[in-house]
Amino acid sequence: MKTINDINFKNKKALIRVDFNVPLNDNFEVTDDTRIISAKPTIIKILEDGGSCILMSHLGRPKGIQHKFSLQHIVNKIEEIIGVEVIFVNNCVGEVAESAASKLESGQILLLENLRFHDEEKQGDEAFAIQLAKLGDVYVNDAFGTAHRAHASTTVVAKFFPENKYFGKLLAKEIESIEKVMTSGEKPVLAVLGGAKVSSKITIIKNILNKVDHLIIGGGMTFTFIKAQGGKIGNSICEDDKIDLALDILKQAKEKNVQIHLPLDVVAADAFSNDANTQIVDVNNIPNGWQGLDCGPKSIVLFDNVVNQCKTILWNGPLGVFEMENFASGTIALGDSIAQATKNGTFSLVGGGDSVAAVKQFGFQDKVSYVSTGGGAMLESLEGKTLPGIAAIIN
Ligand code: AMP
Repeated sequence: MKTINDINFKNKKALIRVDFNVPLNDNFEVTDDTRIISAKPTIIKILEDGGSCILMSHLGRPKGIQHKFSLQHIVNKIEEIIGVEVIFVNNCVGEVAESAASKLESGQILLLENLRFHDEEKQGDEAFAIQLAKLGDVYVNDAFGTAHRAHASTTVVAKFFPENKYFGKLLAKEIESIEKVMTSGEKPVLAVLGGAKVSSKITIIKNILNKVDHLIIGGGMTFTFIKAQGGKIGNSICEDDKIDLALDILKQAKEKNVQIHLPLDVVAADAFSNDANTQIVDVNNIPNGWQGLDCGPKSIVLFDNVVNQCKTILWNGPLGVFEMENFASGTIALGDSIAQATKNGTFSLVGGGDSVAAVKQFGFQDKVSYVSTGGGAMLESLEGKTLPGIAAIIN
């Protein structure tokens, strides 16, 4: 794996694909700067080597050129975080970009306008990629969040830097973390899969059964498995067309010697509402009219036990409807267990969609080994796919 640590950037212009797709409020202020902070180590290393940075990113899903999606809005934020003045150009290709890039001096940062103001970016257009490639001497990909897209700036551009393409520090860390869970991690390995539906996680479950020793299944997915085994699930969320699949997963797990752990009890509610009446019931015996919205106290103890036996942990998906305070306990308890295990030397990776939101909401981000910056990219990695943005650097 060629990372930016393998090269000195002195007098080199690094064309860096970052993921600065940050949320903005109505005043165009950045409301979560995690992604900019995450790219800082790469930018600093290049500047300290005596190189310069040409940053390119998308922001949102613009249709043509739309002011509200301009990367100009985040210039101040980047300056504040990196501590270096940022030169901005209002096009990512063409004369303005080329002229600004050619004048760029060591230690300077140039930010290009939103790549997606050009449809060619998402189309992976080669001519557009050539225009981008003209701007730098070295290509660096540090955007894990878009590594699963074969876009011009994430994938196609790499082929115009056959000897000069590198993973940035963030992307390298993401790849390393996934590898730890999927191939090189210390055993026993545990995956915790929560979230709403079996159907959205099925490819992950199938792939992960070949990698882990323990699998905790929680959240809304639980009930398809419980019903499949003859339990009474009341009004809990269930995908009836996935019942056979659930049975097949349980069978495969047995064959592969993977221990599956399902909740033992649940917090059942008489409506999908934070104000609903609740009771703790056996997961196999949920009364009619009630639905399981969180795992119960016995499940929390069981999961804590499993977490504490394992040396490598992947966590994807909440164990309950954590957005509602009364159904967040299971997710918080799991976060506590994983934080404790991490303190004791276990490697823990949190990634993919809502689990990252949950981890941040409850303040666990500094208590686990790594929180992935990519939702979809993480999910596709866990499915066992090779991401085009990563393949483009390796090949
Ligand atoms: P996902 O995007 O698949 O990870 O699903 C996350 C969503 O699953 C969150 O919005 C949770 O509220 C939801 N969820 C978790 N547990 C349950 C449950 N028992 N019933 C319904 N939805 C749930």
